[in-house]
Amino acid sequence: MNIIFLGPPGSGKGTYSSRIKDILHIPHISTGDILRNEIKNNTEIGKKAKEYCDKGELVPDDIILEILKKRLSQEDAKNGFILDGFPRTISQAQSLEKFAKIDVALNLVIPEDILIEKLTSRRVCEKCGAIYNIANINRNGIKMPPMLPEKPGICDKCGGKLIQRRDDKEEIIKDRLKVYKEQTEPLIKYYRDKGILVDVKIHGPPEIMVPEILKILENK
Ligand code: ADP
Ligand code: ZN
Repeated sequence: MNIIFLGPPGSGKGTYSSRIKDILHIPHISTGDILRNEIKNNTEIGKKAKEYCDKGELVPDDIILEILKKRLSQEDAKNGFILDGFPRTISQAQSLEKFAKIDVALNLVIPEDILIEKLTSRRVCEKCGAIYNIANINRNGIKMPPMLPEKPGICDKCGGKLIQRRDDKEEIIKDRLKVYKEQTEPLIKYYRDKGILVDVKIHGPPEIMVPEILKILENK
């Protein structure tokens, strides 16, 4: 099955994708993770992408399409994949259609004040990209306890150091949310019109949301 995760920054696309990939045995493809890796390794693509990522702006389509096509052509993506962070514009969605058929677009729905709190409290593993969160949210029917590592500051999966993403600073978060509203939100209607969009209202931690998402996928 070919799955897209839609939703604003901080809605949990990365967290849900990485849990679901282990259950469905299909790869989790995050354009943001690929770009951060290219930047860390100072590759040609990384050098071109860095200034955009640091400001919270979208990286130009030609760069993104190049990395995405390369990733989707790998053997492990033959039986399905989870896309996280792509497409982010109507034009990217139209390009995607030329080389892949999407079965379902999951639209994560979550109030903006909670997004901001989650983004400023997010920590990621410098080495493997695993996601943690120090926020403890419990209001308006939304319950999200913190997702902490066993040892403070250290990744459970690989022992890497936990850091704050450069673009998870409050000023840049505002810009990313603006970019999301202007450029990515129109994709909700785009996929709804195609009949493959499902809204997923986030109200709890992954332990509650992942089974709900799997149920939606079972009926697809
Ligand atoms: P978010 O938490 O904002 O969803 P991502 O990890 O998906 O973060 O993306 C981080 C940054 O990488 C974006 O702000 C943007 O600069 C760049 N990026 C990732 N995916 C794309 C894409 N499909 N098109 C353009 N830029 C992208
Ligand atoms: Zn790690």
